[in-house]
Amino acid sequence: MTAAANSDLPFARYEGGGRRLLGRPRQGDLTPRHGYGPPVFEQCGFTCAYCGMDMSAPYENWLQLSVDHVVPSGARSSGYPPAWLEDVTNLVTCCRPCNEFSNAFVVAEPAPREVEAFFLLRDRAFIAKRALLRTKHEKERQWYQDHVVALQEPTGPDLPAEPTP
Ligand SMILES: [Zn+2]
Repeated sequence: MTAAANSDLPFARYEGGGRRLLGRPRQGDLTPRHGYGPPVFEQCGFTCAYCGMDMSAPYENWLQLSVDHVVPSGARSSGYPPAWLEDVTNLVTCCRPCNEFSNAFVVAEPAPREVEAFFLLRDRAFIAKRALLRTKHEKERQWYQDHVVALQEPTGPDLPAEPTP
């Protein structure tokens, strides 16, 4: 992977360039918005790392705010160290739809021995998830267009309102 490709990733702006473990976020009240999320938002911002939704405003967008494990936490059953999986460097700001659309994502690669190899794997996982989510959003948008928007539109072209006599 080239350096140019890396700068496209959200981790580039994390403390240590996303190449240094930052610790597990304090859990607080165990919710993403108030508890374990703020240390992630501090590094990653309030924009979904995958689709770009700004969740700082309005309030309805704020309610979509969640946190995603880039390498899924389920990888611990394949021998991935929990301390790496739960570290801030493996977490990104994520909207709830992207979180839902990617919840079946798994990593096939065996657990790396060195943390540097884990960071490279995390980068690959992020790129794969972002591509997967692009496809999922395109399909969902099309479904929405066909099943919701199309049914609400008048069949003819928009006509100016008729003047009232
Ligand atoms: Zn998103």
